[in-house]
Amino acid sequence: MAQKVRAKVRPLLVRPGARYTCFGDGLCCTDIHGLGPLTKRELTQIRRIDPEGGEYNDGFEDYMLRTAADGGCVFQLPDQRCSVHAKRGPEAKPEGCTRFPLGLVATPEGGRITTEHRCPCRTLGDRPELTPEDALPSLVDSAGRPSADDRVKKVKLSAKQKVAFSTYREIESKMLDELAKGRKPAKVLDAKPFPKLHKSDWVLEALELIDSRDGTAFGAALGWFGDTILKLVDGRRPRPPARPWASAFDRAEARPGEPRSSREVFADWIADELWSLGWNDERNLALMRVELATRLAIAEDICKRLRRRGLRPDRSAAEAVTVVELVGESDFWKEIVERMR
Ligand code: SF4
Repeated sequence: MAQKVRAKVRPLLVRPGARYTCFGDGLCCTDIHGLGPLTKRELTQIRRIDPEGGEYNDGFEDYMLRTAADGGCVFQLPDQRCSVHAKRGPEAKPEGCTRFPLGLVATPEGGRITTEHRCPCRTLGDRPELTPEDALPSLVDSAGRPSADDRVKKVKLSAKQKVAFSTYREIESKMLDELAKGRKPAKVLDAKPFPKLHKSDWVLEALELIDSRDGTAFGAALGWFGDTILKLVDGRRPRPPARPWASAFDRAEARPGEPRSSREVFADWIADELWSLGWNDERNLALMRVELATRLAIAEDICKRLRRRGLRPDRSAAEAVTVVELVGESDFWKEIVERMR
């Protein structure tokens, strides 16, 4: 009888080449990711510190930390430190705060430790290699056990083809190898960006993104993203957009370390998009290649414009990745990807 395949969290696995440690750059306490969700216990603890510190958020359909008008957490101090941490210690912080930008996906081979790339502690400066030991404290539940964000047993290669994890691993290993050897990320993805959209077009979608700006860091990313689409598909001249995340990148850039090329920053990001398997739930590998090729084209164009302003190549690419990863997580982008099918 065939053995049942299980998705397990042990052993903990790190993608070779992933580098990260928390330097406290402060960007993770802004709306570059959802500040929550809060468990009942966390909500009670937070409300003991500030009765209005946690609130129901319609967008996330859950209780989240309250944000100020600029999208930053109300508990963030002017010097970027966390007032919950400062007053009550690190264990008083909600799990969402201690976990970001790390994640854990259970697979038949073990728990893949994943990293988000919209955090400059992940993308800029001299960062130590990520190890399971260092990551583990951020990935455990209240009982101290590693808790998975997702479980993957089989992988969807296309809308019609689902394969065993080991088959996918062969495809993935080849792509990761090529990225590590310095091949252009767009060539590794091997997909045409900006496919035809079902019952919509790229100009319409870009205008909706631009109209949705709201003064937050997320809104600024929507503006960059929409303007860049209009430039790439319609030849329009982009406006000089805001960069509310710039001070966090200033701090990261000031850290010692050999600057990387922008291609290395993009390759590192694409490698983790593959490794995280986040696309396997609602998409498939073929669709992921197309949507990622589109976001990569947008990121490369943003990077070029930032470099023209005199920014370092790795910083330009890291800021561009922040924009496309942030928008890539949003419902706006999810709806656009649905129209790519
Ligand atoms: S509670 Fe603290 S760590 Fe969490 S988002 Fe707010 S300031 Fe940042």
